[in-house]
Amino acid sequence: MTVKAILDEKGRDVITVPRDISVTETGKQLSKHKIGAVVVVDAEDRICGIVSERDIVRAIAKHGPSILDEPVSTVMTSNVKVCDESHSVNQLMEMMTAGRFRHMPVEVDGKIGGMISIGDVVRMRIEQVEREAEEIKAYIAS
Ligand code: AMP
Repeated sequence: MTVKAILDEKGRDVITVPRDISVTETGKQLSKHKIGAVVVVDAEDRICGIVSERDIVRAIAKHGPSILDEPVSTVMTSNVKVCDESHSVNQLMEMMTAGRFRHMPVEVDGKIGGMISIGDVVRMRIEQVEREAEEIKAYIAS
């Protein structure tokens, strides 16, 4: 099971924000779309950073509420780990576990081309295990 297969099923739309948008506006995007992270992009849709709800909570804890008026680039993670469509679900699980994050942007031709969350990975893995179990049962029965 590859990233391409997940994106073919869930779609390739990604909620993105520009780096000069405020932290408050970024939080509103997370709330509006009921998501845990947004990708920060430049004018050409190249990935500049990622901001998760954890970054916003940590920034408020560290700097106080005044950070909410600052540009999102002050709280984002700039060193973004990305995958491409050929990565497998198992590879994503390893990368997310090693990096301790729950979101993985997909890069296509140097631009943002999709987003995989830990929820997508877990769902796909469960489906895969259930399918394999059914195949084994059918094989034993035949
Ligand atoms: P998350 O678990 O995705 O909510 O994010 C936890 C922390 O990891 C936050 O500081 C995020 O900015 C950061 N983060 C999330 N996804 C990635 C990624 N793909 N590459 C690098 N850092 C990330």
